[in-house]
Amino acid sequence: MSQYWSPAVRELTPYVPGEQPRERVIKLNTNENPYPPAPGVSTALRDYSTDHLRLYPDPTSRALRETLAATYGVNVEETFVGNGSDEVLAFAFQAFFCHGAPLDVPSITYSFYPVYANLYGVTLRKHPLNAKWEVDMDALASVTESSGVIFANPNAPTGHAHSLEAIETLLKRVTDRVVLIDEAYVDFGAESAVELVGRYPNLLVTGTFSKSRSLAGLRLGYAIGSQELIEGLQRVKDSFNSYPVDSLASLVGIEALKDKQHFDACRNNVITTRERTRQRLEQSGFEVLPSKANFILAQHPKFAGAQLFAGLRERGILVRHFNTDMLNNFLRITIGTDDEMDSLVEALEAICR
Ligand code: PMP
Repeated sequence: MSQYWSPAVRELTPYVPGEQPRERVIKLNTNENPYPPAPGVSTALRDYSTDHLRLYPDPTSRALRETLAATYGVNVEETFVGNGSDEVLAFAFQAFFCHGAPLDVPSITYSFYPVYANLYGVTLRKHPLNAKWEVDMDALASVTESSGVIFANPNAPTGHAHSLEAIETLLKRVTDRVVLIDEAYVDFGAESAVELVGRYPNLLVTGTFSKSRSLAGLRLGYAIGSQELIEGLQRVKDSFNSYPVDSLASLVGIEALKDKQHFDACRNNVITTRERTRQRLEQSGFEVLPSKANFILAQHPKFAGAQLFAGLRERGILVRHFNTDMLNNFLRITIGTDDEMDSLVEALEAICR
């Protein structure tokens, strides 16, 4: 603790990401994609002239945003890009949620939201998940005096996703404040709310290149929403750093967006492996929550989460264990390759024997 820190920083409990291993391990702890990015990414990197680095990037990221707009069927003015969706989320907190009124969130959701809430002085009003571990949409909509609504769909770390119909029902009820839907994991089998953007000016959808496009190391994220909301993000961004993303990230992002075939092949592989892993774990006595993301949340009726986590770690397999009351018994397991998941299941079977 330092006397020089401002009060918000003194109170801050930063988000702690999954550990970065030094030795060779099977890394299933931070929801990265086990497959490489689109082949066009390697070609673009190989052919990249370092002379581009001498110049500042395009402050509007026009080329990347045009490709994003074409990919998602929206206007370029309805798109925004940033250094990872975490940064886009930070801008959204500053632009839309610092009203004084509480921000409505599910009680179990992405753990960065409380970090930003703390940093920007936003009070969170937490709504418990329902008995099926689903975000309680009715509770999120049934409030007054609120600065907005934020949730991940699919939710993290449960993996449950609401249908487009359920999301539209929420949007019909919440019309006077921003509804931010974090779609970091949407490409692994959930329905995107992007198609509702034209009809709901208060809907902001965020997404990332880190998961389904295998570019977590690059830090590239985006938001899609009405021009009004995008302008709000733009104002915050321009006051922070007038260059949204660097020129290399723009170029690589465009290549990743262009290759639909590679994108579909990778996400289909992840989905198939997820369902296979779920079945195998269930056969071994685990309870696995249904997931539309590139991870699963699993628990064993007889073995504590911490014990399973430690046993896997000893065997060189990293997964995520959350030290919270509700999630203490669970492991969140990223879907890797088939071989990696076979090793995981075999290790868990050995630990539980
Ligand atoms: N939203 C959710 C729900 C996530 O789990 C993550 C990844 N930890 C992010 C956003 C941030 O992703 P990135 O900053 O890599 O785009």
